[in-house]
Amino acid sequence: SEQNFDVVIIGSGGAGFSAAITAKNAGANVVIIEKMPTVGGNSLITGGQMNVPGNWVQKKVGIEDSIDLFVKDTLKGGDYLGDPEMVQILAEQALPAAEWLRDYIKVDFYNDQLFQFGGHSVKRALIPRNHTGAEWISKFMAKTDELQIPIHTRTTATALIKDQSGRVIGVEAEKNGQKITYNAKRGVIMATGGFGANVAMRTKYAPELDNRYGTTNARGIMGDGIVMAEKLNAKTHNMKSIQTYPICHIDTGVISLIADSRFFGAIVVNKEGHRFVEELERRDVISRAILAQTDQQAYVLWGGEIEDIAGVVGVHKDEFGELNRKGMMFKADSIEELAHKFGVDEKALMAQVGRVNKFAKAGDDKEFNHRGGLKTIMKPPFYMLVAKPSVHHTMGGLMTDTHTRVLDTQGKVIAGLFAAGEVTGMTHGSNRLGGNAITDITVFGRIAGKEAAAQ
Ligand code: ADP
Repeated sequence: SEQNFDVVIIGSGGAGFSAAITAKNAGANVVIIEKMPTVGGNSLITGGQMNVPGNWVQKKVGIEDSIDLFVKDTLKGGDYLGDPEMVQILAEQALPAAEWLRDYIKVDFYNDQLFQFGGHSVKRALIPRNHTGAEWISKFMAKTDELQIPIHTRTTATALIKDQSGRVIGVEAEKNGQKITYNAKRGVIMATGGFGANVAMRTKYAPELDNRYGTTNARGIMGDGIVMAEKLNAKTHNMKSIQTYPICHIDTGVISLIADSRFFGAIVVNKEGHRFVEELERRDVISRAILAQTDQQAYVLWGGEIEDIAGVVGVHKDEFGELNRKGMMFKADSIEELAHKFGVDEKALMAQVGRVNKFAKAGDDKEFNHRGGLKTIMKPPFYMLVAKPSVHHTMGGLMTDTHTRVLDTQGKVIAGLFAAGEVTGMTHGSNRLGGNAITDITVFGRIAGKEAAAQ
């Protein structure tokens, strides 16, 4: 069958929704197509924090920040491989994008709390209600309903259609084995996310990231948009830069939030009962170190002193329940009992904890020079969970210009084709800083929607 629209948006994450709503408000007849049965992609399962320099919460709590400082942090955090012009737009458009989310989309942000992720000079990340992307996606859904924007789920885009001049004029898609042609009078917006869940594709660029790694990504995140655009000679950028997260569930690959105890002094040991890496090392360093251990797993251990400050078991009750049922996390009154449950060398672990307690009291970690300072692990109850690293975010992707137009290998614009979000490779350089993805998808999603509608 055939369907006619002005703008066709592929993918229903934050980038796709931002683009669709903006294009619709600019007078275009739009559709979102989504291959999964449900909307949201990775945007649904993220913590959802959004970096916005000069935001209203900063003003309220008295934090000085600037567009320049955000640009500097972002470029430095990505080893200066991000595109400075695009990062400048990211920084300048962050506040208007956040105000749009707050006032028009009705995203509920906490108005007295901010997050500060690694690599940021100040606290600048707005926090959506309940610290999850579900807040974004549910509000985006309500707005698309109100605007009567159709969302075609279980519909997989398979190819871009171009005319004789090379202009993109539509999308070939498949639903339940049936072919559907979507004609796009003004443009197609690629918002398909990254390729973190595609083992074959990620090992093509980073051979190390094979199936020893799980993934934190939603199932649909297979790099389809990049592959489709490459068939039209689109240029990719920075594809080797793939971020891993070290402490994830060993069965599902999902990020462990309960193990954020690590930021408060929890130690990471191997089956032999030894620490093997500084617990606050870079994500990639810890990930590699874990894969070099027996069973390619690690065990995170903490006690009452740390739980009293971190409060992670209290906050993440559901995670504890699930891991506990599956035999992947236990709480006990003695460390010996935990070692026994996981088959970790009990004697060696007790000796290791003894050394940690000594280093903690002396304020000097003689083994790994823990930068946050170790804490004692003496007070019951004790907690232990098993973890392994997962692929988290793909920084590389399609090359776009400042109007989000996709560029070809000659650096020329591919007419009619726009891209925004994780499918692009412009802003994060070698390493995406926490809280920058939401800013990226909203800012460039809005630009893509406006530009495509204006064709
Ligand atoms: P971003 O953060 O860039 O918005 P997300 O990961 O949140 O990206 O969302 C991307 C969405 O695109 C996911 O819901 C995913 O299932 C969808 N998607 C990926 N490939 C296709 C495709 N070929 N056809 C339709 N939808 C797709």
